[in-house]
Amino acid sequence: MDDLKNKILGEAKALEGELQAWRRELHQHPELGLDLDWTRQFVWDKLVSFGCQPQKCGEGIVVVLGKPGGKTILLRGDMDALPVPEEADVPYKSTNGRMHACGHDMHTSMMLGAAKVLKANEALLEGQVKLMYQPGEETLQGAKNMVDSGVLDDPKVDAAVMIHVMTGLPIPVGMLMIPEGNTGAASSDEFHIVVKGKGGHGAMPHLSIDPINAMAHIHTALQEIHAREIVPGEFLVITPGIFRAGNASNVIADSGEIVGTIRTGASEMVAFAKKRITEISESIAAAFRCTAEVSFCKSCPPMIADVAMSDSARKYMTELLGQLVLPPMGNGSKLGGGSEDFAFVSERVPTIGMFLGVGNSKEGCTYPQHHPKAVFDDSVLFEGTAAYCYLALRWLQENK
Ligand SMILES: [Zn+2]
Ligand SMILES: [Zn+2]
Repeated sequence: MDDLKNKILGEAKALEGELQAWRRELHQHPELGLDLDWTRQFVWDKLVSFGCQPQKCGEGIVVVLGKPGGKTILLRGDMDALPVPEEADVPYKSTNGRMHACGHDMHTSMMLGAAKVLKANEALLEGQVKLMYQPGEETLQGAKNMVDSGVLDDPKVDAAVMIHVMTGLPIPVGMLMIPEGNTGAASSDEFHIVVKGKGGHGAMPHLSIDPINAMAHIHTALQEIHAREIVPGEFLVITPGIFRAGNASNVIADSGEIVGTIRTGASEMVAFAKKRITEISESIAAAFRCTAEVSFCKSCPPMIADVAMSDSARKYMTELLGQLVLPPMGNGSKLGGGSEDFAFVSERVPTIGMFLGVGNSKEGCTYPQHHPKAVFDDSVLFEGTAAYCYLALRWLQENK
């Protein structure tokens, strides 16, 4: 085991310069959603140069390594950026008005490193590794796009791993965090409430039906779902992020719209929230002589981590990185509000997501992910590469 650990760490460390160069080139050419032409070509060419045989899968890329017959473990790296003009003062600043503000350029680079190391060590794989280069994570479309295109089939995937980098938090650079229990990520569902009244002159409200009045009551009432209808301490967020109606101070609008997001940790809670948002909106609109049409879109389920996978990951990563694995914090299955579309994979196979510290807020990296000034320390990319490779090798050894 020590031999394997030293071999993988050594080979990943030897790639340090390349990993950084790839990451910085990707950083200068961020692309959005499923439209990753430049990025896909970059990844494809690199994979071919390592001797891999990339295949297109939906709008992403897949590489399979190892020998058929045993089990298959999937490693995921997402590749898309955000529509944020970069304000970070780095020499490899984005050139096109978009930004890798979530660090997916780091993931793509770490996964290229993993392909190179695993290809060179293919004979050691006691089964198969499937590398998933995913588009559209920020839009929560990409994993589904690849799952629908068969990323989990042929060879059938038995377990799946993702790593996400983290900056702007008080976590030392190079520290790896493995969530406890089944902690994954929250679900995400968008709601639209269109309220229709009857427009008219602002000076004659009695001749109109004001939708803004009904919308204001709906907005307030939606907060009561969390306050009065769920078990105290349970995780549910309902945030109306858009509230729009009207164009002039002296005109009563015809209609208006509230658009928001629901975040929670269980599918039953999503269903409950949708039901209550619909009932409350329709009833309040009716009370004020309006109508409300409620619809939902952009749905991503909660990501549930597999407890056995989580335990195995902690064991392997402690073998590999020792003190660099953050000890359990004993916070059980506490969820943040963030979502992760790897959930579409976790619905089908046992999954674990790990987090790598790449910017300590105590050492000046104060801007969080998605911020235009966020910076990411790419000196520890080799650790991510080694983590992907070692986890795959060890899991296959123990799950023949
Ligand atoms: Zn993000
Ligand atoms: Zn991200």
